[in-house]
Amino acid sequence: MKEKVELVLKKYFGYDAFKPGQDKIISNILDQRDTLGIMPTGGGKSLCYQIPALVLPGTSIIISPLIALMKDQVDALTSQGIAAAYISSILTPKEVQETLINAAHGQYKLLYIAPERLASESCSNLLLNLQVPLIAIDEAHCVSQWGHDFRPSYEAIAPWIKQMPRRPVVAAFTATATPRVQEDIVKLLHLEKGTTFITGFDRKSLHFSVLKGVDKKQYIDQYVKGHAEQAGIIYAATRKEVDDLYKYLSSQGYKAGRYHAGLSNEERNYSQDAFIYDELRVIVATNAFGLGIDKSNIRYVIHHNMPRSLESYYQEAGRAGRDGDAGECILLFSPADVHIQKFLIEQTVMAEEREQEEYRKLQDMIDYCHTTRCLRQYILEYFGEKNIADNCENCGNCTGKYELKDITIEAQKIFSCMMRMNQQYGSTMVSSVLKGSRAKRVREMGFDKLSTYGIMSDLTLAAIVDLINLLAAEDYIHITEGKYPILRLTRKAVPVLKSQAEVTIRIQKEPEAAVIDSQLFLRLRDLRHEIAEKEQVPPYVIFHDSTLKEMSARLPADLNQMSSIPGVGEIKLAKYGQQFLDVIINFASENELTASLTGGEKPPGRVAAAKQPVSKEKNKIPSYIITWEMYNEGKSIEDIVNERELKEITIQDHFLRCAREGLKIEWDDFLSEEEEAEILAVINEVGTEKLAPIKAALPEEIGYMAIKAVICKNKLA
Ligand code: ADP
Ligand code: MG
Ligand code: ZN
Repeated sequence: MKEKVELVLKKYFGYDAFKPGQDKIISNILDQRDTLGIMPTGGGKSLCYQIPALVLPGTSIIISPLIALMKDQVDALTSQGIAAAYISSILTPKEVQETLINAAHGQYKLLYIAPERLASESCSNLLLNLQVPLIAIDEAHCVSQWGHDFRPSYEAIAPWIKQMPRRPVVAAFTATATPRVQEDIVKLLHLEKGTTFITGFDRKSLHFSVLKGVDKKQYIDQYVKGHAEQAGIIYAATRKEVDDLYKYLSSQGYKAGRYHAGLSNEERNYSQDAFIYDELRVIVATNAFGLGIDKSNIRYVIHHNMPRSLESYYQEAGRAGRDGDAGECILLFSPADVHIQKFLIEQTVMAEEREQEEYRKLQDMIDYCHTTRCLRQYILEYFGEKNIADNCENCGNCTGKYELKDITIEAQKIFSCMMRMNQQYGSTMVSSVLKGSRAKRVREMGFDKLSTYGIMSDLTLAAIVDLINLLAAEDYIHITEGKYPILRLTRKAVPVLKSQAEVTIRIQKEPEAAVIDSQLFLRLRDLRHEIAEKEQVPPYVIFHDSTLKEMSARLPADLNQMSSIPGVGEIKLAKYGQQFLDVIINFASENELTASLTGGEKPPGRVAAAKQPVSKEKNKIPSYIITWEMYNEGKSIEDIVNERELKEITIQDHFLRCAREGLKIEWDDFLSEEEEAEILAVINEVGTEKLAPIKAALPEEIGYMAIKAVICKNKLA
């Protein structure tokens, strides 16, 4: 038998040797034993059922959810001289009929069937007369509710097999299955005394990394530019984001396509084909794209948003590098992604238990984004592998420069505070107590009386929240599922509390991604360069980089606002202000930007109306000082706005300027401690380079003033 198998391998497929696991799986099937084969993407699963199908007498049936792939496989087999056919919804009823008749005459070695066809009567009748030695189920994780890609039609498989006159050997295959899903596959497909073969989930050639706090659009722009000759997929969470990114990349001159369920069939097919045939380099897509795409030379997969589970992530990211060459898998994380995914879970109607499971998976996914351990190790352990090396030398956490840091004391402080709060609160509350916050709720609950109150006051709130996330990622803390997660200690935390174990983490020495300059910044830099040349001075004499960055982040809409940018003194304002302002205003209207300074607070029309002469009210006393004096008289922002007939945003900026210049501002007048904690947590993730992403990740009611106040108060910019 062995010789025969090797002969088939060479004769039909042209290979001299098996890939890892293939021979064992094939002989197991040929020995008439049910089989579950778990091999990574590109591991060669198809061969594991195709070869037995060729060796065994009769017609083997392959069940696969991937209609497009089915056709490709059948075409490939036919071209290799193997009699194969498929039955799916893309055939006309007449074609189905013909195929069934041919099948009944035993003309095929392999017959592919889409799972939703199983229930049809014609299919059932066929089986009564057909000799079927093997049923192979590809993408078998689809049978499990607990997987990431549950297909109800897969439930029909087991009953269907049961009604067959003679039970064939059953073999199931998948690339992504947690231990729980593996169990489910065996149970739901009734794999009798099934043997499970796991060749491992590792994809050694893939480089994994998670980037936080980067400007996603710019990052993608730069990445695609730097890899213009390579094929890549960019996954985004929603159709709208796909459309936005697609338009953006197209406008930048890239050969991009898009794919999501909201597009016409024609456009979807066009994008898919053009991508497969290398006419398009990059495709922007929702997770609807990729199933059944066998394209082997995809060099990178960027996730613009965090997906809902590691299973989805690994499957999507795993589409890179099927040919075994290097592939890059980059996940761009932002806290807003967590909100998006929770929202999506809430939107989907499902049973309570299932929903909890979804939240649990989401938490594992979030932990992946926060872990400082080897990312590969994290993934492989998630899929149930054991004894994985601590350093893979091929992921962002292993290749980045890092040092080890002992955080045992910090961990103990956090754990004991959680204990004293009876493990009934989420990270915001716990961190507020540790910080020693004077927030109303902390006092109302009497937490300011706890011995752990304020024991981490030397850290910022954001740093405490970060530590909590980290300890959760490392399994010391369990964050409960659901909308309002609660922190609980795990068993792993106990020895730490008793000082019997230490906690060490890796700290990145250098930020992984260089901060990418914004397009506007680049334009402002060009202008500066021009002026500098004309004036024969070094560019920094005109404005420092930091000033240009501030301009591009705040988008001042008039000279008055321009004057509040650090580094823009009166002389420079008069000399260069208007030129820089023109560039900013043009850029803002080209890109339909509502200035981040005002964010969504003002109607967009303001950009166009922005050119106003410098206010003539200056009689020696600077405007912001006047504001400050009024504030000290006890007037509110609103009062000052009305009295001075200035825009609210202007007055807000006056306050910030005062603070920067050392004039005392009571920040509590502008924001509560809870708001501050929330804002800091977000800033910690997304940085302060731009305000809009911070605003987006926060509840609606938190305005720009509060955000700017936090930045100013904590000297974060
Ligand atoms: P999977 O379904 O596990 O993702 P495929 O069955 O599509 O993987 O196989 C991936 C690639 O590996 C295909 O191009 C296939 O031709 C190739 N392949 C399969 N088995 C072998 C082998 N023994 N030697 C060399 N290449 C192989
Ligand atoms: Mg496959
Ligand atoms: Zn690693």
